[in-house]
Amino acid sequence: MNEQIELTHNTQTGNFWIDTGLAVLLCEFGEGKHCIESIRSWLVSCLVQPTGNKGYYYDVQKDKLQEYEKKNWVYPANLFIKVAGASGTKKKVDGKEYPTQPPVFDLNLEMSQKKGICDVCGQTSALTDAKMWQFPFVVEPSKFGNFYSSAKRGLRLCARCALAGLAGYLGWLWKTQGRDVLHFFLFHAELRSLTELQRAVVQPLNMQRSQGGNAPVAFFGPFLHEATLGLLLWLFAEVKQRDSLSEEGKRTLQNLFGAQELKHTASPLTLYAVTGQIGQAVKINSVVEISKLMSLYRLYDKWITILRNGSPNPHEQIVTVFRQFEARQGNKLETVWRDRVARAILEFTDPVPSIESFLYDVRARQKPAERRALAYGTEDILNHYLQEVLNMPEEVQKTLAGFGRSLGVMVHERKEMGLLYALRNSKNPEQFYRVLNDIQFRLGMTVPEPLLRIGTGERIADVPWVRVKTLLSIYAMNAYLRKETRGEESANDTTTMEE
Ligand SMILES: [Zn+2]
Repeated sequence: MNEQIELTHNTQTGNFWIDTGLAVLLCEFGEGKHCIESIRSWLVSCLVQPTGNKGYYYDVQKDKLQEYEKKNWVYPANLFIKVAGASGTKKKVDGKEYPTQPPVFDLNLEMSQKKGICDVCGQTSALTDAKMWQFPFVVEPSKFGNFYSSAKRGLRLCARCALAGLAGYLGWLWKTQGRDVLHFFLFHAELRSLTELQRAVVQPLNMQRSQGGNAPVAFFGPFLHEATLGLLLWLFAEVKQRDSLSEEGKRTLQNLFGAQELKHTASPLTLYAVTGQIGQAVKINSVVEISKLMSLYRLYDKWITILRNGSPNPHEQIVTVFRQFEARQGNKLETVWRDRVARAILEFTDPVPSIESFLYDVRARQKPAERRALAYGTEDILNHYLQEVLNMPEEVQKTLAGFGRSLGVMVHERKEMGLLYALRNSKNPEQFYRVLNDIQFRLGMTVPEPLLRIGTGERIADVPWVRVKTLLSIYAMNAYLRKETRGEESANDTTTMEE
């Protein structure tokens, strides 16, 4: 087969899987015309790897059993490519069946004679029927309907898209949680930057892959958003502060995440994160598209500056802040709070209710000896986020933080923990004001004037009342726990290392 395909940086399809594969092929073969067969055999040689086990086959000519090195589709591609190796006819030796050759793993394209329109790129060309096993994004077609409306009837692909579909397995970042959950991550941008990202970042990470994956993560768990944030924090740290990647890799990430510092605008980068349950096949549970990567990087960069004052390693501190939202429950590490907080950050929505729930339902319920306040830096990051993303006026935030801390200390002194739970459980402004009234009466505290004015739409000082309530209960409980662990003198101190 001497047929060729042409690879260029202008053949972007818009499908994140196929474009990742095209970038992998461009890295390996470069722009130009290439023989389909040589690309196909290169892909198979990358995707079929020794398993480390030995097997026996019956050598017909020598009339004896021969040892061979077992091979298989490389993990986790083998969860999707379900094509068994061809092992010839079977032969019985001493009552046991053996293959008559070491199994040969291969994938054939089988292009049609008649030309048609490729489902992915729209080109008129000879086509191949893409089987379900070749492409993760059609494993559960209904789940990928947004990306791929024609997937239900099976795909017909031109040779270039089919080869790129296979190459996609060499361009993803993946991470497994034990043997149960598989996350995979794919970036998408203009094909030229995608190729650069593959060359400078993904392929070097691929070389360092371990059993658990090739995706470097600051932390991870079974849920999609926590794992995604864990990956992004690792990548963000690479831009300026760490040296796991080459200079070229750092520059590439800098161009993609921090483009506002450059004269030219790089193409906006999108991250697709997919989580599946590993079984006989992978069952896709969820897919998210994270597109505000530059804004996320800007937030991260600002947090580094903020935490630099009090921490020798601000990046590690940011990681600690987000990692902390977990709880050991029996043998299991429950990370649902971390996933919710991560989701809010990735989507630029409100993480405050999840932080409140973690503080009251996890931290405050631990045995007094084990109770801890939130990690150093949590309030600093939260306060910045409130102002920057949730548009909270700075003076309101400061009023709440100041009053909340005094309240927590006073509650601790008077042993009135019930007041904090009453505050936390307020379901409407009336209940909230009743609790504030109790606080004034029982603790002899003066509630700051701005908190007493409720305006239209149940807003207090132009902030939704429930956010005011939630923040107050966070600041207060956190101060309470700080005071409990460290005593009076440091209860108001937010700049001391927690751990
Ligand atoms: Zn095509």
